Amino acid sequence: MKKIVCKLKGHTYAPIKKENILIKEFECIHCKQRYTTDGYGQMVRLTKYWKENHQFFEKYLAKRTAS
Ligand SMILES: [Zn+2]
Repeated sequence: MKKIVCKLKGHTYAPIKKENILIKEFECIHCKQRYTTDGYGQMVRLTKYWKENHQFFEKYLAKRTAS
């Protein structure tokens, strides 16, 4: 569902609060698509690949802070 405003002006990103501040996720307030930033700080679509990546990262950090 693409909104015309996104086509014309680009997406309007609103940050999604995550427990881990190192993981950044955003949602466009118009089309509700989710985004994240890659390792280079570029805004990318939050695909399955990135979701899994974040889950892995969260687990990794949880383990590290637990020990
Ligand atoms: Zn949008």
